[in-house]
Parts: sequence; structure tokens; C-alpha cells
Amino acid sequence: MSTAADRLATEGYGPENLPYASFSPTGGEHRLGVRLGDRAIDVAALAAAVEGLDDAARSAASAPDLDALLAAGHGTWTALRSWLVEVVTTDGLDEAVAASSYPVEGISLHMPFTVADYVDYYASEHHASNVGKIFRPDQAPLLPNWKHLPVGYHGRAGTVIPSGQDFPRPKGLRPEPSGIPSFGPSRRLDIEAELGFVLGGAAAAGEVSLERAAAEHLFGVVLFNDWSARDIQAYEYVPLGPYLGKSFASSISLWVVPWEALEAARVAPPAREHALARYLDDEGRDPWGLDVTLGVSVDGHTITHPPVSTMYWTAPQMVAHMSVNGAGLRPGDFFGSGTVSGPEADQRGSFLELSWGGQEAFALPDGTEMTFLQDGQTVTLTGTAPGPGGSVIDLGECTATILPAT
Ligand code: CA
Repeated sequence: MSTAADRLATEGYGPENLPYASFSPTGGEHRLGVRLGDRAIDVAALAAAVEGLDDAARSAASAPDLDALLAAGHGTWTALRSWLVEVVTTDGLDEAVAASSYPVEGISLHMPFTVADYVDYYASEHHASNVGKIFRPDQAPLLPNWKHLPVGYHGRAGTVIPSGQDFPRPKGLRPEPSGIPSFGPSRRLDIEAELGFVLGGAAAAGEVSLERAAAEHLFGVVLFNDWSARDIQAYEYVPLGPYLGKSFASSISLWVVPWEALEAARVAPPAREHALARYLDDEGRDPWGLDVTLGVSVDGHTITHPPVSTMYWTAPQMVAHMSVNGAGLRPGDFFGSGTVSGPEADQRGSFLELSWGGQEAFALPDGTEMTFLQDGQTVTLTGTAPGPGGSVIDLGECTATILPAT
């Protein structure tokens, strides 16, 4: 007798992880999948073969993506995950699991959920400080509000795109020394290495507490590359914030790692410099920081490892902040953490910081000199977190190649 986990698990994709995707086998229809090792399990097919899943979860599992599960709420997604963990760790069910699964190298992945509202935060102190030093060298690096609330802006949900979808270099108005902008392709195309938070369960009246955010609304995480055209951004952002410099493409990884899979990765966030308003105050609460380490590679060369554990603001604080004014939360709402940068130079999550505003070119291991991105370059984000008992939670990858401007 053996379990599916014994037979199929690989490091990073054991029964502790079980990330979800929308996938199709060659020529097949989209369906909800869960990953164990190098196999994508068709959740609906498994539910038909192995009993024990309640009707609400069975119904959500028969959808082509995560939308129904996000709408069904945390009780249903908790029930589905508990059942999946039990099935893949029960002796004698390995044949049923194997028969309901496909090798991941032979499947196509699709957008795992429909993005409702997308908010991009700015939660890394090291990133915000670096940007402040680069753009406002004569002022304090952090603006006065930064440690009192998680700064964010509403982004464009419709241009959150799946990993693997390449896109052309964006065009727009670029600042020029004369003061008159020029129109053309961005000369300062950048990445932002972020963690993305996928939310579920409706909260129509807003005012979601930190505890309710963590227990009922945070469904999962993805890797998130919030591509940014720094020249377009620099010209347009005054006084209302980023717009076209960010909204052309924002890539997400396609295996959504359940929030529950990151239980062993939870760490205390940095010490709070100011007492926080009641709705944000996490003093003495459960720790909601995450010990996720990102990796950023350019054309296969890994150049930086941003540590999510250094983020000042946590995901539950982002939910509490978004909703405190009464704004409702919808299933499929999506938050970017903001660029993750650690204190060290090789922990910076953008080329803006790695090249210090484009002033300090750096070399890739093959000798290529870099400041911002060139056409044809491929950027890939990866990420891992500690799982229970020494296991590893792999977040997969988020990749795209820059095509020439149209
Ligand atoms: Ca961002």
C-alpha cells in the first residue's frame, strides 16, 4: 500500500503545498487542477472517483478555474483542501489520484481566476526608501504617511496577464531635458518583483478586520511581476499616481499557492515605528509576515533574491485598509504587495534600484551590461517558502519576454 504523496511528491510540490491552477490537457477543456509533484490532478475527476467531498466543494471543483471556489467562501475552500490533503495521504488511493492526473509538462495553463479589482501596494520599506533616495535625494527617503498606512493605488485588473504571455514594449510620453515630453517606446522598462494576494469571499459592507482577512478572505498567493515603464511613470504620476506606466501588463504565476499552505512560513513583521490606528494595529496578534524568498532571473541568470519577510505591511493589513472606509471586497480581488526589496544590494526587486536610477550599470554573468530591459530579454520570477517539517513550498514561476514596440 502506498499514498499518492509517497508515489508522486517532489520537493516543493508535496502534500503540504497542493497549489491550484486552471489547466487543459492537449485539446481538452479548461478544468480546475491541483498539483502534486509533476502531476496536475483533475479535481472534478478525482471527486468523481473518491467520495467524501461535500456538495458545495464538489460543485466549485467542477468549474474550469477558481472563480466558483473564490465565490463559495472560505468554508468551501477549506473543506476542499482538507479533502485533497486526506486523499493524497491515504493509503490505497494512489491509483485513483494517478488516474485523475496528467504530467504537468503536457498541459496548458490558463488564468486561474478572473481578476475583480486590483490594488497595488507599496509595502516594502527598503524599496520605498530606495525609490525616495533615487527620486528625491534632498528629502527624507520615506514620506510622512508611509509608516501610518499601507500606501496603494487602484490598478488595471484587465491587464493582469498569465505567465508566459509576452508583450510589446509600451509606448507613451517620456520626459525630456527641454521639459517638452517626447512620444515613443519606453527607454526605461523595468520589473517589480512582488507577491500577489488572491482574495475570496464577499464582504459587501467592507470593514474587514485583520483576523477576518486572514481567516476568511486570503485565499492564496502568486508570484507577481508588475512591469513598469519608469520614464512614462515619472512624467505622468504627478499628482494622481501611476497610470499608463504600469497598466500595460502585470504578470502572475499560474499555480495559486493556498494561504493555508504558508502556515509554517508566517513570521513577525518588522517592529512598528509608530503606534498604528486600531484597524491596522497588529501588536500582539498572530504574525502575518511571510518568509517567502523570491528569485529574479534575466535570460536564465539569477540576479537578486528579494525577501518578503522584510515587508513592513502584511496582507491582512492591506485587506483591512482597503475596506475600512466601507468599500466592499469581491471574490477575485487581487493585491500586489509592492516591489519587494531587502536591505542588501542583491535583494533589490527592481532594475531601478539594482542600477540606482540607471546610473550604475551592472553585469550579468555572461558579461551583458544592464540598466533597464532590452527587447528580447526574458525575466522569470521564482519563489519558495518553508513548509511544515522541513518541507519546501514552491511558488512556481512567473515569466515573460519583452517584444519590440509595435
Ligand atoms: Ca507595483
